[in-house]
Amino acid sequence: MHRAVRKHRADAATRQNAGMGTAAAPERCIFCEIVAGRLPASFVYTGDEVVAFLDIRPVTQGHLLVIPRQHAGRLETLDPGLGAQVFTVAQNLAVRLRRSGFCAGTNLFLADGVLAGQEVFHVHLHVIPRTQRDGFGLRAKRRGQPGRDELDATAEQIRVRISPSPG
Ligand code: AMP
Ligand code: ZN
Repeated sequence: MHRAVRKHRADAATRQNAGMGTAAAPERCIFCEIVAGRLPASFVYTGDEVVAFLDIRPVTQGHLLVIPRQHAGRLETLDPGLGAQVFTVAQNLAVRLRRSGFCAGTNLFLADGVLAGQEVFHVHLHVIPRTQRDGFGLRAKRRGQPGRDELDATAEQIRVRISPSPG
């Protein structure tokens, strides 16, 4: 990747991570370009608020991205009502894919932030069709099985941090 492009991306990511992202798209957002029809995409759904198209580098066949038409870099700047619509479309697509026999199941995945693996800063929900031996999997190292006291203490820590509770 060209250094200037990388720097631009890093700057954009820094802005988004700092929660400074606005509803306005950064100078050139790939997914806004797709929504505007200036970049190609293979759409499977086009609604008034939400669209879904094939991921250009699928992890399994039929790997979809569901996005709001309106730009939001991160969950923090995504209108919650719009987020609900994104999920509803993904849910619908996942159910229809399975019912049609295209796959046996699906994974929904969303990366929010660089540390979480987000590469494109226009919120998107991955819908990943699953079939036997498709080679896809999430790798994670489980942290044993904490006792109830530890789980309760962590829950209390989180409640304190997120207070007042999300609506
Ligand atoms: P994430 O790591 O969650 O930000 O994922 C970004 C996803 O966008 C990756 O799976 C990419 O393959 C996908 N992607 C990037 N550019 C395009 C594009 N022009 N059309 C479709 N998918 C894209
Ligand atoms: Zn965008």
